[in-house]
Amino acid sequence: MNPGDLIVRNATWLDIEAGDYCEGDLEIRDGRFVDVDAQPSVSDVREIDAAGAYVLPGLIDCHVHVTAHTADLPALGTDSPNYVAMHTARLMGDMLDRGFTTVRDVAGADYGLHDAQVEGLLRGPRLFFGGKALSQTGGHADPRGRGESYVDSSATCSHIGRVVDGVDAVRAAARDELRKGAHHIKIMAGGGVASPTDRIDSTQFSLDEITAVVEEAEAANRYVAAHAYTGRAINRALRAGVRSIEHGNLMDDESVALFLEHDAFVTMNLVTYWALMEEGREFGLSQENWEKVSVVLDGGMTALERAYRGGVNLCYGTDLLGGMHRHQSREFALRAEVVPIIDIIRSATSTAARLIQREGELGVIAPGAFGDLIVLDRDPLRDVSVLADARPSQVIQAGKVVAAGG
Ligand SMILES: [Zn+2]
Repeated sequence: MNPGDLIVRNATWLDIEAGDYCEGDLEIRDGRFVDVDAQPSVSDVREIDAAGAYVLPGLIDCHVHVTAHTADLPALGTDSPNYVAMHTARLMGDMLDRGFTTVRDVAGADYGLHDAQVEGLLRGPRLFFGGKALSQTGGHADPRGRGESYVDSSATCSHIGRVVDGVDAVRAAARDELRKGAHHIKIMAGGGVASPTDRIDSTQFSLDEITAVVEEAEAANRYVAAHAYTGRAINRALRAGVRSIEHGNLMDDESVALFLEHDAFVTMNLVTYWALMEEGREFGLSQENWEKVSVVLDGGMTALERAYRGGVNLCYGTDLLGGMHRHQSREFALRAEVVPIIDIIRSATSTAARLIQREGELGVIAPGAFGDLIVLDRDPLRDVSVLADARPSQVIQAGKVVAAGG
């Protein structure tokens, strides 16, 4: 019996594009859907009965940090990579239990974690990674306080970023991350919350530096994801060819036009500000950084509404740190205040798959796509809490039942 073979009988499954349910049996062979409406009569494979349940494609979280076992990111750089990996295994296993069969790590994860997941050593979602984020001196991934001068940029330290300045240096760093297998390059294009010396309203990297990274990513058929909050930071990044904006909480109307013009994506993550307000200090966020949170939280909901009404490609993201990871599914409930549930589900499936360059292969139930599914007890289109507050009763990844019994 092939472990990647499975038949899901009597499925009420969501056709993501149509936004409606279909009924039937789903057949997965060797990890991929072969048929979505036939009546397979074969008896040589494992079967599960999904009668009465609701079946969705496996979820994709487009903004995670699987190594961020603490909210004190600057301190992460002094941890042993081996120690961090043990935490990562726990965090990724939990993500899978919540129904996230794929995640995109946007600073911190590397080829080692990716390979461990592929080889089955590490139980967790499929991992798309960008290696270390590129940050200018004093930028969002510069871990130093004002009195510190040393930056550990060794390949094996656990810090999520590397500090580089100048066109030649950022180009070399981008090439180096691509050499190590990065699926995308992450840059810090503006100020952030969990960083010691920058301001939320700063822009980071020169246009020449951003353009150089975009050139390198595109040369490798990859793309650039940029951390940016303000309209000023977002708009210059989009003009320079950045394809994926992370956060975007303070975007303006011009940003919306630029997203559409460039067919770019925004991955918001309201839940992390919600969680940081509630619990950030308890998990290591400094008082000073905690105070930056309210600025971006207020803007976030307005920006989500603006982006949704404008027709921007929206992706599901969470960006949770440390012990706050457990709120990963709460983003569904926060977004539901502004966005119809079917469109939130699309942001965590089909739109997300397009962002990570796996359209038709992930985030959809269709012949040829990976057999990644979640089975829910209630209809999420009527009751978002089945996604936001409960775990799927079964999680299936490449035809294998990897979690059961929510
Ligand atoms: Zn992040």
